[in-house]
Amino acid sequence: MFLTTKPMKLLLIPCAILITFSSCANPGSETAPQSSNENKPSVVVVSNAADTVPPSIVSDSLVTNDFLMGKFNYRTHPFFIKVPATMSTKELYVQKETLEAFQRMHEAALKDSVSLKIVSGTRSFNEQKNIWETKWKKEIVAQKTPKAAALKILEYSSMPSTSRHHWGTDIDINSVEGAYFRKGKGLKEYNWLVANGNKFGFYQTYTPKDKGRTGYSVEEWHWSYLPLSKKYLEYYNARITNNDIKGFTGCETAAEIDIIQNFVNGIEKY
Ligand SMILES: [Zn+2]
Repeated sequence: MFLTTKPMKLLLIPCAILITFSSCANPGSETAPQSSNENKPSVVVVSNAADTVPPSIVSDSLVTNDFLMGKFNYRTHPFFIKVPATMSTKELYVQKETLEAFQRMHEAALKDSVSLKIVSGTRSFNEQKNIWETKWKKEIVAQKTPKAAALKILEYSSMPSTSRHHWGTDIDINSVEGAYFRKGKGLKEYNWLVANGNKFGFYQTYTPKDKGRTGYSVEEWHWSYLPLSKKYLEYYNARITNNDIKGFTGCETAAEIDIIQNFVNGIEKY
């Protein structure tokens, strides 16, 4: 159901020309990411696989490098929609296809007396930057080196530009505390998701690391709508490099940690 490699190769040429190599050490030179939705798309996806690829991928001239790195306004992006209050704990947005799939899963779970609510959906670059820099202020004091500070934050939080929450495909369900899912109601909900989530396209990306997965610690709450996110990861790996991860305090550690190899790709293989 995904694009062939042919159009991907066509994309690489204009993208290579458009990539700029500004210094990570000068985040003040970044333009305001929220305004980048007004930018012209850097590439236009030309696909001959329209019959087999989800509409939001075929028509995605808007899936630019900025999109992949969360530098757009999801509140006004045509693929995104606000999640109804019956399925969320606060105002949040996801992609329309993600919501349609979640709604089917939500209804099926209710029939088994399991209530699923989204507690976190799409986050922009700036929102992730706020999370990251708040933690950075603490960890750069508590840890011995910038790399150690970054790795401490990276146990559970992403660098801006590297979060799957940028894509509108990934959601946190019911809680963001591991202890919640290890007994009682939370355990029942987690077991239901493990048994049924895949039928609706949702997969746990941050599974236990004892089988060699790199990156973030286990997250029982984080589920990805893989029919879309799998494709975005392919785009990401084709276009984005560690040098593109910049514009926030501590971004100079991205290359040292090899953030894309070890964290963006540090997911369970399905
Ligand atoms: Zn998450």
